[in-house]
Amino acid sequence: MTQTVSRPAAGAQKPPLPLDVEAIRADFPILTRTVRDGKRLVYLDSGATSQKPRSVLDAERDFYENHNAAPHRGAHQLAEEATGLYEGARARIAEFISAAVEEVVFTRNTTDAINTVAYALSNAATAKEPSFRRYAVGQGDEIVVTEMEHHANLVPWQQLCERTGATLRWLGLTDDGRLDLSDLGTVVNERTRLVAVTQQSNILGTINPLEPIVARAREVGALVLVDGAQSVPHQPVDVATLGADFLVFSGHKMLGPTGVGVLWGRYEVLDALPPFMTGGSMIEVVRMEGSTFMPPPQRFEAGVPMTAQVVGLGAAVDYLQALGMDRVQAHEEALTGYALEQLQAIPGVTVIGPPDTVARGGAISFTVEGIHPHDVGQVLDDLGIAVRVGHHCAWPVVRRYGVPATTRATFYVHTGYDDVDTLVEGVRAAQRFFGVTPEEATA
Ligand code: PMP
Repeated sequence: MTQTVSRPAAGAQKPPLPLDVEAIRADFPILTRTVRDGKRLVYLDSGATSQKPRSVLDAERDFYENHNAAPHRGAHQLAEEATGLYEGARARIAEFISAAVEEVVFTRNTTDAINTVAYALSNAATAKEPSFRRYAVGQGDEIVVTEMEHHANLVPWQQLCERTGATLRWLGLTDDGRLDLSDLGTVVNERTRLVAVTQQSNILGTINPLEPIVARAREVGALVLVDGAQSVPHQPVDVATLGADFLVFSGHKMLGPTGVGVLWGRYEVLDALPPFMTGGSMIEVVRMEGSTFMPPPQRFEAGVPMTAQVVGLGAAVDYLQALGMDRVQAHEEALTGYALEQLQAIPGVTVIGPPDTVARGGAISFTVEGIHPHDVGQVLDDLGIAVRVGHHCAWPVVRRYGVPATTRATFYVHTGYDDVDTLVEGVRAAQRFFGVTPEEATA
């Protein structure tokens, strides 16, 4: 059990923030509204979904107002323009993660991207086309995940194992919220076909050391899928350095629209996988007797795609690139250090996850002794502070640390020290409201 003892902060450290919070806030229309009877919106739930800057909203509106058509179809000017915008966004998103354009597949979100890979691996076993059977998963094979995964990177692998007779294995967690790699050498072994691991935990904030995991997977010839849902929006991520086979992430968590995500795959691997969804746009030749499929990425983009959303995600990437991902990361690190210090100085508050900023991102989960997280969330909401409460779609994690749920604050480019101060005041207000004063909490 992680029961990091709350201790007083040794003086509030507020290093200058790398991003101009006031200027950035002006770009987000939603941040001008008030909530709960005129209170300023303190949005600390970007980990669930991020707010959208005006440039992203404008890009979507402009698409519908001026260019709307189905891409890759139609012999008319609008179709040509829609195709250009869709493929142009693909090129910018590919560049954002240093990938080749044909390695970027658009999906609905991270969940959809992971399911696309999981179904491709089980479909591979029965594929008629021999070149699609290379990565087939079957009886006797093993899939490795970690105890830290979001349900999106756990349940699809459980289901893959049920479909194929493969076995699911996992790496556990240490008491301070990190991956326990002590049995990496046995958990990842010659039977392992794929290792699926998150780069940054949505609940603990932990940034995982992927290098030893990728190196071990390579030794045994296993594929590696990295869940980048919480890393790609917050730090520079480059697929060449990552060394994995797949990287998946969601547009809506990185200032982009809902309904669009990315499956990046190494071309050689994508090219050897059968499709999951089939239908229009992904076929080469269709006859009543059977069909052949396009090469990646089209093989994995069946039907008319989420075109306006892709264009919006392109604008989100432009916005993040203009800020600079190094600065985005440094900004969140400064806020996280300050918030950890302030929260852990409140008697009765326990941070679930790494207690300092070493290899850690801006997702802070905590419990308040004597108050259920849902009640903490309600008091914070009354003060205009939006946080998430619950198991955060990572049920095994809260179980591992022996808590029913946590309160989670997550930061992004528009977050400032004032937001953190309001949160800290809100937690103290919750303690007062429930009659759990700091003194009582530590008694
Ligand atoms: N993985 C992680 C680490 C996440 O935080 C999330 C979203 N909370 C997901 C996967 C799933 O993302 P989506 O719901 O956008 O598919």
